[in-house]
Amino acid sequence: GESLAARDPELADAISRELRRQQTQIELIASENIVSRAVLEAQGSPLTNKYAEGYPGKRYYGGCEFVDIAEELARDRAKRLFGAAYANVQPNSGSQANQAVFLALLKPGDRILGLDLSAGGHLTHGARPNISGKWFEAHHYGVRQDDHLIDYDALRDQARELKPQMIIAGGSAYPRTIDFAAFREIADEVGAYLMVDMAHFAGLVAGGAYPNPVPHADVVTTTTHKTLRGPRGGMVLSRDEEIGKKINSAVFPGLQGGPLMHVIAAKAVAFGEALRPEFRTYAKDVIENCKAMAGALTERGYALVSGGTDSHLALVDLRPKSLTGDISEKALERAHITCNKNGVPFDPEKPTVTSGLRIGSPAGTTRGFGKAEFARVGEMMAEVLDSLSVNREGDAQVEARVREEVIALCERFPIYSELG
Ligand code: PLP
Repeated sequence: GESLAARDPELADAISRELRRQQTQIELIASENIVSRAVLEAQGSPLTNKYAEGYPGKRYYGGCEFVDIAEELARDRAKRLFGAAYANVQPNSGSQANQAVFLALLKPGDRILGLDLSAGGHLTHGARPNISGKWFEAHHYGVRQDDHLIDYDALRDQARELKPQMIIAGGSAYPRTIDFAAFREIADEVGAYLMVDMAHFAGLVAGGAYPNPVPHADVVTTTTHKTLRGPRGGMVLSRDEEIGKKINSAVFPGLQGGPLMHVIAAKAVAFGEALRPEFRTYAKDVIENCKAMAGALTERGYALVSGGTDSHLALVDLRPKSLTGDISEKALERAHITCNKNGVPFDPEKPTVTSGLRIGSPAGTTRGFGKAEFARVGEMMAEVLDSLSVNREGDAQVEARVREEVIALCERFPIYSELG
């Protein structure tokens, strides 16, 4: 048949411009990564045509023998990767993985206790505009004002008082190690389920560079596209097969219809990649690289939430430089450095403005940047931001000079050369 470029030049052009953007910008968005050609190939395969409601061996449609192989591979590899007894690889996204857990284990009106959005939590952990905040009685724990770390004593007191049905650990902008054993103890004391949403750091867990929550939690949810470096999607894991049965019914038929078999195939490929020894090196490098970038910013006088990072992400607090997240994100983008504005704990600014920037090392590490490159990225960020603090419109000369250096650096570490 016709190629995409011939069939639909308008759309093909958007894709090729997006490819060029990825090739020539430094991607610091902590939740993004660069998947392998093998993952892309599986996701772009004819498996997209197949309806496969149900689970391997127990489908509601014929012709499922080959997609069953893909889903079995994904499940088996996920279980091996994280030491879980149970895996469901069908959730279409991280949000739907979380919804499936709620549907399986909670009733409307139950009390949940998750990390506050302003302290790095995620919308699906009980934020007001999210279904989790509308259909449950959602409460939040925060971080300490002085060191920005989770206060486990305060959390214990709050849990004793609230007696929540579920406690949720994990988030989208918490740069430090989470003490899953402490969460387990608190959950046991008050009779709550413990759910860990490891979406952000799943790849670090897979690579042995961050503690594994699976032995501690009743259920672990994740996305597959962040540090784990697979296709966009979600997954639920558990060490408990009885809970697993409830999760299976919640995902299908509770919440979703036909699973995205092409995406599940791509998950299998990514999990296979994560089982290889090189992935352990990648996970370790992600953290070292993030520390190198954060260290360069600290040396230039930038403040970091919690003073640093143990993970793939860091949060820059721009207040000492009298800058805000919104204009900083835009200035860096003009210099081909992509990141996102982000609230910092106790942020006085609105969510559309913010006092912070979230930066991450997974995508840069995947394209081959090491500590030296990341330290230079931190310095280049400081050059752009310093000039912005002098002139809030931005300094076009500084931005152009950094942009040239960024493009040259990206050319030294090419991605998707075979795609054009
Ligand atoms: N959970 C956490 C901790 C996240 O950071 C995210 C991603 O933003 C999600 C869940 C939601 O994942 P998705 O965007 O795939 O729905």
